[in-house]
Amino acid sequence: MQVGSLVRSTLGLKNHRVESVTLENGLVVVRLDAIGTRLLPCSGCGTFDPVRDRRPERRWRHLPVWEVPVELRYRPARVACSSCGTPRVEVIPWSIGKSPISRPLVVELAEWSRLLAWDVVARLYGVAWATVVAAVEQAVAYGLARRDLSGLRAIGVDELSRRKGHLYHTNVYDIASEPRRLIWSGEGREKKTLRRFFDDIGDDQAKRIEAVCCDMWANYVDVIRERAPQATLVFDKFHIVRHLLEAVNDVRKAEARALQRDFPELLKGTRYIWLKNPENLTDRQRLRLHALEKQRGLMTLRAYHLKELFRHLWDYRSKAWATKYLKQWFWWATHSRIDPLREFAWMLRRHEPNILAYFDHRIDNGAVEAMNNNAKAISHRARGFRSEHAFTLAMLHCLGDLELPEGLKTVPRSP
Ligand SMILES: [Zn+2]
Repeated sequence: MQVGSLVRSTLGLKNHRVESVTLENGLVVVRLDAIGTRLLPCSGCGTFDPVRDRRPERRWRHLPVWEVPVELRYRPARVACSSCGTPRVEVIPWSIGKSPISRPLVVELAEWSRLLAWDVVARLYGVAWATVVAAVEQAVAYGLARRDLSGLRAIGVDELSRRKGHLYHTNVYDIASEPRRLIWSGEGREKKTLRRFFDDIGDDQAKRIEAVCCDMWANYVDVIRERAPQATLVFDKFHIVRHLLEAVNDVRKAEARALQRDFPELLKGTRYIWLKNPENLTDRQRLRLHALEKQRGLMTLRAYHLKELFRHLWDYRSKAWATKYLKQWFWWATHSRIDPLREFAWMLRRHEPNILAYFDHRIDNGAVEAMNNNAKAISHRARGFRSEHAFTLAMLHCLGDLELPEGLKTVPRSP
């Protein structure tokens, strides 16, 4: 009975034994039973009690052996628990709740689902696609139940668009943890979306948040002030720079239009030259920039220099000096006679306390942006399942740093 001992050792059975292994309609059926008169643990309180009666047979899909599907069958026992005072079902070591998938199979499917598209995982294990989804659901529920948010102090809030910008998701990350982890995701980017996050973590937890990093998106700002008023709001420097790059790009577009008749070639193909950091330019782009720098009165060039000057802001160590520098830059920009940059400068002025808050907390959503890009790739793993539920599930599973249930006893876990 080779398969029997394989099942026994990999499930780590102590109080149960393999009764029989048969091949039925292409399915390896493993019947399990409780051993004799052993006391079994109560699922309510964990104490060991005598068996009172047995429940109807349950079936669990288990790991295939040489690609032959395996099913575990067992009649769970009810124990007469003295502490709980009522009959309770035993703790079944290979089972998670009422799931029809064995715990080791849940873990295997869930682990591979972090790396591969879910339909590929389904094919690999010869299970239905819905079984993979169910396994991920159980793994995520297990991880969420054990997740500790008590140390949550700094969060990053960012939006993510999917389906080509038709749908938005709000993602909340723990940006002080190592590795950073996604802690919440929900469809939408309205006030009510972020309120759902605060409802989920509860007021006590919200009151412990010290800093929040986000874009200047008014919906988020309002809800953060309303639900975590004690937290310092830090506007994300990458978002700020993105607004500045948009302004520079607008200047280039307007100027290219103005030069269309007399110098149509001058700004052609220069878009990324102005937007990239100079150290990232290719040799060709650098030469082109050199040539453009000799052009007198080019408005795009002045906008570009202002953009480069703005980058120094983040290098300051002291908030006082940063404040001074920002004032200086504000003066340059507002006197530049370049409208998009003046508008940008005034926007900074309106949000100045939250921009300078960076120098108190030094948090940004840089890592979050990278994770959000990952999230887009990850959502494709759940392909074929387009609901918000699957999308959220896939992201929490892959980015939430959630603990997985324990799998097989003797087979090494993948890293
Ligand atoms: Zn009990």
